[in-house]
Amino acid sequence: MTNLDLHASLVRGRQAVEAYIVECRDQLGEYTWDEENATDRLIHAVYPAARYIPFKRNQEGGTPTSSGTGADWLWWWLSPTGECFGMLVQAKNLKRIGKRWAVDLEYAKRKQIIDLLNASDLLEVPAVYALYCGDPAYRPDLTCGEGHTSDTLDRCHRSGVCALPALIASQLATFSALDPPGQAAIEAYQNAIPLEDLADTSLGTPVVHDLNLRHIDGKLLEFLTQPQATARGIAKKIFEMVSRMRSGQFALAVSEHRRVDENAFVFANLPTDRGHFGVPYFDHVLRGLRRQPPDYLVAMAGGDDPPAWLSRLVAGIALFDVV
Ligand SMILES: [Zn+2]
Repeated sequence: MTNLDLHASLVRGRQAVEAYIVECRDQLGEYTWDEENATDRLIHAVYPAARYIPFKRNQEGGTPTSSGTGADWLWWWLSPTGECFGMLVQAKNLKRIGKRWAVDLEYAKRKQIIDLLNASDLLEVPAVYALYCGDPAYRPDLTCGEGHTSDTLDRCHRSGVCALPALIASQLATFSALDPPGQAAIEAYQNAIPLEDLADTSLGTPVVHDLNLRHIDGKLLEFLTQPQATARGIAKKIFEMVSRMRSGQFALAVSEHRRVDENAFVFANLPTDRGHFGVPYFDHVLRGLRRQPPDYLVAMAGGDDPPAWLSRLVAGIALFDVV
């Protein structure tokens, strides 16, 4: 299987979610759909490039996942070398409320974002929202921003399922307190990336113009400035989104680095700069990039049940083969 297959599979997944949303609209007479069902449609349509391991719900003594809705999933992008990139993914619907847009990422819902970020710390992966944005007919008044065109290659045609790092959502939520209602949802849509673009090798990996670049050398500098493929390519696309937002923040970059376990993490020496994110953003994203799958994945591949601490945090695991 090639990365092309993963990209084609993710396109199929997005189309399946759009088809489900249109079914709901036709049956209910309005755009109302369920996040969990959308996730099921997505992952099933991506099979066999993605495999889906749902955990048993409401295990005794269990507590709800961080969203309390069963919408949190742990995704691992697996390279054939064993290198992999994990993300804690929470599904969110882009909703139309009257004439405005909403995503439940506004200031009043900030506790949910903090809970998700705390769960991602326990899993040592970045937190990312999967935004279900409906089909293009759902959002004729919403565009991807200044670069929007009427062309069929425009991003809006691929945006039925988007990825938005939670650090970006958290910033949008913080500043939305001062904005007109609905602005945070519009910016969430505009700052997100179509899920399928993560695996689209024809797009290349973005150049990262990080504020901390001059304090970086070695393998990390190479990662940020050279093209990347497989799980590293996906990690880099997520990192670039966060780094780009960091560039717009008026906070001094700091040059201290932090060492972590060099056996497990691909990058063990990362800048501790927080910008306005509140956490060191290099570590938040790049801790998800590992030399090999974590022990619990290896044990589960051998037939073990997920450990209780894990099934308390997420509704299941999705594994994506990135070749
Ligand atoms: Zn657009």
